[in-house]
Amino acid sequence: MQIKRSKGSSRTKLLSLSSVFQELKTAMSSPSQPEVPAPLDNLEIQYTKIFINNEWHDSVSGKKFPVINPATEEVICHVEEGDKADVDKAVKAARQAFQIGSPWRTMDASERGRLLFKLADLIERDHLLLATLEAINGGKVFASSYLFDIAACIKALKYCAGWADKVHGQTIPSDGDSFTYTRREPIGVCGQIIPWNFPLLMFIWKIGPALGCGNTVIVKPAEQTPLTALYMASLIKEAGFPPGVVNIVPGYGPTAGAAISSHMDIDKVAFTGSTQVGKLIKEAAGKSNLKRVTLELGGKSPCIVFADADLDTAVEFAHNGVFYHQGQCCVAASRLFVEESIYDEFVRRSVERAKKCVLGNPLNTGINQGPQIDKEQHEKILDLIESGKKEGAKLECGGGRWGNKGYFVQPTVFSNVTDDMRIAKEEIFGPVQQIMKFKSLDDVIKRANNTSYGLAAGVFTKDVDKAITVSSALQAGVVWVNCYMMLSPQCPFGGFKMSGNGRELGEHGIYEYTELKTVIMKISQKNS
Ligand code: ADP
Repeated sequence: MQIKRSKGSSRTKLLSLSSVFQELKTAMSSPSQPEVPAPLDNLEIQYTKIFINNEWHDSVSGKKFPVINPATEEVICHVEEGDKADVDKAVKAARQAFQIGSPWRTMDASERGRLLFKLADLIERDHLLLATLEAINGGKVFASSYLFDIAACIKALKYCAGWADKVHGQTIPSDGDSFTYTRREPIGVCGQIIPWNFPLLMFIWKIGPALGCGNTVIVKPAEQTPLTALYMASLIKEAGFPPGVVNIVPGYGPTAGAAISSHMDIDKVAFTGSTQVGKLIKEAAGKSNLKRVTLELGGKSPCIVFADADLDTAVEFAHNGVFYHQGQCCVAASRLFVEESIYDEFVRRSVERAKKCVLGNPLNTGINQGPQIDKEQHEKILDLIESGKKEGAKLECGGGRWGNKGYFVQPTVFSNVTDDMRIAKEEIFGPVQQIMKFKSLDDVIKRANNTSYGLAAGVFTKDVDKAITVSSALQAGVVWVNCYMMLSPQCPFGGFKMSGNGRELGEHGIYEYTELKTVIMKISQKNS
């Protein structure tokens, strides 16, 4: 396929990106300000098959599915469509690779770490290609993909690589004449079902901890965005992972995904996606072999701005918190509570900020809002926007589709939003900001927690007492104070309530890929 080289200067300064971007970059502690090259021209899609045992396979059914560029609605390529029979093949390969005595099971933990570091180096080598592929397939703004997504993948993978030989057990002073210790062992064959909003990053968040702990995996990328995962298959082989350790089965959720969650020979399923599908996955795990389940699901995250906050900072973070990646982030700050005395000014500035968004093909320079991922999401967002208008919210800007090709939505801001409106309750996953008014701290805490979700939250205030009180009271897996969406692989990530089970990354996320075994050894006499 042909990709047009971006117009204008081929090198864009990071400075032209939004502040959240710079914050994310700071979070990745890069000392220098990297420049962004132009996306790759004439990128050829090389990998479209199912990856099992380090080999490429056609689907058992012979079916393929189209992969669409959401900015143009054009078909990029067709990919082999995995289903139950392909998942069965992949499970066999992963099980074989996990057998006691296999190259993978007998490999030194430090060597597993070395392979993961090597994989991170290969991503670094192919940084530009992967960033281009994410932009074409996932509608990601290229600069954002280049600076954030791929860089964050490298960081996360290296973090997991470092853990590989540091997964320790303990010795325990148990009762009786015994010597007791624990071992953290790999769980076994892990099914990993990932979403389309961060195709490569979610791939890394899944395989990194799993492989670091010595598991084998079957990954099902989202049907909308299989291309970077398939490219990664080639790097996994090149890095030298033994056959069967990583298997990648592209396909649809109710077929290939369901085959994973209900499989009798998969020991754990890790899922990122909607709460609705998360429930199905947990149900399937329960109905099959009670496989371990970790879920990272939806959110309707509150962001609270007190009158004493630095207004410029709060407006910018609140904007990026909901508009970043077209609003397609599980942590999107999609319920913005602003204290009454600054409400009107905050709305005015937020509207002004939203109007500065530049929409267009995400490969082009200067664009900071690309398309939504597909027709279904596009329609769902437009429907929710209509509901906001009908239910009496004040449409401040946007409110419809943008252009007539590609799944674009105008950056939209609603004020006078009340808690009972659909736009205040449902996850929109689009560039739509809801601004609500609050009067008191107690009132806003209650309202912020009045949701079945609990993924993330934000608080903006200069008052430390208030920041601590509110962040303690909020029911969310991550609370950002005077910032939003700062993520780092050292920090556990996951949700309270219906936003998920378990954590990813950080020490806790690593342990989610281990079983804890206690070994109690009878000894003739306890010494001391
Ligand atoms: P979204 O609604 O954002 O598209 P989904 O939760 O539907 O998110 O999809 C996330 C991932 O879950 C994708 O890889 C998708 O194919 C998969 N999936 C969808 N339905 C099922 C299902 N019934 N069982 C297992 N996986 C599923």
